[in-house]
Amino acid sequence: MSKKVTLHEALNILKNAKNVILVSHVSPDGDTLGSTLALAEGLKQTGKKVTIMVDDVISSTYSFMPGIGEYIHPQKGQHYDTDLLVVVDSSSLDRIGIVEECVKAPILNIDHHVSNTGFADYLWLDDTATATGQMMFTLLKEMQVDITLAMAICLYVAIITDCGNFKYSNTTAASMRAAAELLELGVEPNLVSDFIEMKPRKNIELLCKVLNTLTFFDDGRIGIIEINQEDYNKDIDTDSFISYPRYVEGVEVAVMFKAVEPEKTRVSMRTRWIDVSKIALSFNGGGHIKAAGCTIEANLTEAKKQLVTKIIEEMRANK
Ligand code: 5GP
Ligand code: MN
Repeated sequence: MSKKVTLHEALNILKNAKNVILVSHVSPDGDTLGSTLALAEGLKQTGKKVTIMVDDVISSTYSFMPGIGEYIHPQKGQHYDTDLLVVVDSSSLDRIGIVEECVKAPILNIDHHVSNTGFADYLWLDDTATATGQMMFTLLKEMQVDITLAMAICLYVAIITDCGNFKYSNTTAASMRAAAELLELGVEPNLVSDFIEMKPRKNIELLCKVLNTLTFFDDGRIGIIEINQEDYNKDIDTDSFISYPRYVEGVEVAVMFKAVEPEKTRVSMRTRWIDVSKIALSFNGGGHIKAAGCTIEANLTEAKKQLVTKIIEEMRANK
């Protein structure tokens, strides 16, 4: 189990390292990327050697984020020396992919997931934070570094990603205040939103196909969409697709299935009331109470059967 640390203890751990590697999670989203990029900039200002890594493709949606070109993709069999590995916005070790094998160093995990497995040596966890980006903003202010516009944009992207532009239940006065401060530092929300919401045509063409798969179970309480293996393309950002089943009247749990390999199905869940982080954990995944994900080692049909059965069970048990 991790040693739980406070913000100030996390700061001290960072202070004592000269050479730091920061890692974002696989299937990188705006929170893990924005939090990592902002911390990297802050640590560089204090004179540290900083490397940022991710063991996955970064969606072109995030190409506009300052510093995004600095990510390195670790190579199998390579070793990267460092004093400290900072794992950002990940609740379990498998979320960092092969970085686990490539970097052997003490781990500081900065995270906000209720499902955190306590895998790191040191864990600064705040499961009341809307996003890891909100925690990072607090940390950077405590570090007394200059929060540049580039860092502010990254932190803003992190926060809005995880609360759906302040519309999910994890939106708090604190995250809105953080966003307000970021606007005072020069962030223009309309420009950020244009970058994030503007999609290549192929995204919308895929969305058209995916909407045709919309299916309901349990009298319309579960709404699902799916991407079969033929249509699955790692380069197409599908993160926003789940909002379609999610906002159908009567749907209490929305699920998106992606057939990433013949016997491997990625799952995203969103819920109004049952705890989907628990369901995700039972399939070795994780997340938040109302937004979680996992990978099921089965084909799409089988994964669907297993997951829908589990959701119905949970709904019955918690009625
Ligand atoms: P999404 O459905 O957008 O991929 O993920 C929703 C939330 O669950 C995010 O906070 C994400 O980090 C977390 N999550 C998604 N998939 C996994 C997984 O396979 N393992 C773990 N530990 N967390 C996940
Ligand atoms: Mn997050």
